[in-house]
Amino acid sequence: MTPEPRETQIRGACPLDCPDTCAWIVTVENGEPLSLRGDPAHPYTRGSLCNKVENYLAYARSPDRLLYPMRRSGPKGRGEFVRISWDEALEKIAAVCGDVAKKYGAEAILPYSGSGNMGMIQGIYGAGDRLWNVLGTSRGVYTMCTIAGAYGTGYTLGDNGVGMDPETLCFSKLIVLWGANVLSTHPHLWRPILEARKNGASVVCIDPIRTRTAAASDWHLAPIPGTDAALALGLLHVVLKEGKEDRQFIEERTVGWEAFRERILAFPPSRVAAVTGLPCESIVELGKRIASTRPTGIRIGIG
Ligand code: SF4
Repeated sequence: MTPEPRETQIRGACPLDCPDTCAWIVTVENGEPLSLRGDPAHPYTRGSLCNKVENYLAYARSPDRLLYPMRRSGPKGRGEFVRISWDEALEKIAAVCGDVAKKYGAEAILPYSGSGNMGMIQGIYGAGDRLWNVLGTSRGVYTMCTIAGAYGTGYTLGDNGVGMDPETLCFSKLIVLWGANVLSTHPHLWRPILEARKNGASVVCIDPIRTRTAAASDWHLAPIPGTDAALALGLLHVVLKEGKEDRQFIEERTVGWEAFRERILAFPPSRVAAVTGLPCESIVELGKRIASTRPTGIRIGIG
């Protein structure tokens, strides 16, 4: 009988809250992970992992990794904790929740969680949902980050799951990276961007900060933080003045155009320049490029 190989390769995906979702292969021996590498067969991420995750096994093995419930045993900020049992932790949490619910009502409890690791029982994908439901606590969408942007996208575009297929960005002739530090936070998108650039595309980055992406782009516009909406209206103002709006699309696919048009017309580039701190000529120049370049790819960063 042939002995079972002791070493196996397990295919998986990076669980971090990142749009790239890199595929990886973990080599495991006797149940212990030996090495981790990107999966070259994955068509989008092509075998490369970012610096943050290349040493992921070191995180997994770190003695600092939280594996058990810990209770603070000293003043806040001193980092003094003692290990407690799961039963003790559950009893403590249940007692606190019970006390608050009794004294103020269950809605005084506000569940909040983020999504550092993605998974069906973690973060925004349902951790504790049934419990909160049974308790009758206040309900929110947990994270104030991506979800806020996603709701905005939903109200504006009709669905918060929309966005362009990242691999089609390579066909764009103008690429606008708006509030998206792609090189640091969505690194695999840089490949289709470089491909597009080789074919003559120009890359514009809109970001108040001179990020790595901004520095690597052909043109960086740095509006005052929080003035993006005014900038968008100003760019659309230029598009309207150029007569380049897509009338057919507007008529067939949108609602509320007249009200939106009025709003756009209230934001000429001179006003937008005062709001955003950008030169008026830059707003006109980018508006004209957006109006006249086909296809244009816009990657927005939300959150
Ligand atoms: S780029 Fe890094 S964090 Fe994002 S999915 Fe890939 S390995 Fe994970």
